[in-house]
Amino acid sequence: MDYQVLGQTGLKVSKLCFGGLTIGPLQSNRPLAEGAAVMRAAFDAGVNFVDTAELYGTYPYIRKAMADGGKHIIIASKSYAYTYEDMRTSVETACREIGRDYIDIFLLHEQSSRMTLKGHADALAYLCDAKRQGIIRATGVSTHTIDVVRAAALIEEIDIIHPIINIKGIGITDGTAGEMLEAIRFAVDCGKGIYAMKALGGGHLNAIAAQAFAWILAQSGITSIAVGMQTIDEVLLNTAIFSGKNPDSQLWDNVKAAPRRLLVEDWCAGCGQCASRCPAGALAVVEGKVRADYARCILCGYCGAYCPDFCLKVI
Ligand code: SF4
Ligand code: SF4
Repeated sequence: MDYQVLGQTGLKVSKLCFGGLTIGPLQSNRPLAEGAAVMRAAFDAGVNFVDTAELYGTYPYIRKAMADGGKHIIIASKSYAYTYEDMRTSVETACREIGRDYIDIFLLHEQSSRMTLKGHADALAYLCDAKRQGIIRATGVSTHTIDVVRAAALIEEIDIIHPIINIKGIGITDGTAGEMLEAIRFAVDCGKGIYAMKALGGGHLNAIAAQAFAWILAQSGITSIAVGMQTIDEVLLNTAIFSGKNPDSQLWDNVKAAPRRLLVEDWCAGCGQCASRCPAGALAVVEGKVRADYARCILCGYCGAYCPDFCLKVI
């Protein structure tokens, strides 16, 4: 496993980052011990970097995996908070639930435009104060847009950008994969650290996973890549690929045998709350029920967190 410093943060992270979303309640909802064991297997294979978010509900898995593993793990989390006090609460919650007095990296979650970024100025001000106090070590943003990557690149207070990028450009809401790569390289030139998300397009690229991983691993400027993993087979496959090894065919078969999809329950009341939060624009209410555009859906599972009636889940 390759390790590199993320931007100018001094944090030396593994090329493969454990994407924490998939084991938690928005997706596979693994029992605590099982989910922590998957994460622990990644630590044992050399992964030292975990990406999570307040929304994901996965802090207990990280706490348990770290307690079982005993290694120093670099943790990135994120929050939608946009006031100073709400961001303070988010960071304090993460520290308490993970069982640490600091979080390495804390991001403004899912910034959708440069206007959204401006609207989070107070939350960013808290992150800067927390960094000065040693409560976090680096600030940043996660985003699905090229616009935000370019805007964040020019903001001095931002250390890290966590953009969506994959070979087909799936999930990028305002341009192509090539345009996102140009924006990423611009951000790197501005001194920002980059760790990417959705290299497999949330599952859409599973059929060409080897090609999709080879493509993203060949891109300069991307220090680490967060990949969601639900099983120990996925951990073994991904850590082998990211270590430059050729995984055996049985591992590929085991992982391919587990396709994922968005489940929409038929008791949907058509309130539309989920549609307004979908980062891919994949949901719309039609004749009183939500309808999913499965070609656009990146299987992030975020919509499930906003449905008051528990109608949506990635399974
Ligand atoms: S429909 Fe749900 S799972 Fe699919 S992209 Fe939108 S928020 Fe994510
Ligand atoms: S939030 Fe739930 S109830 Fe409302 S439209 Fe979406 S799926 Fe239906």
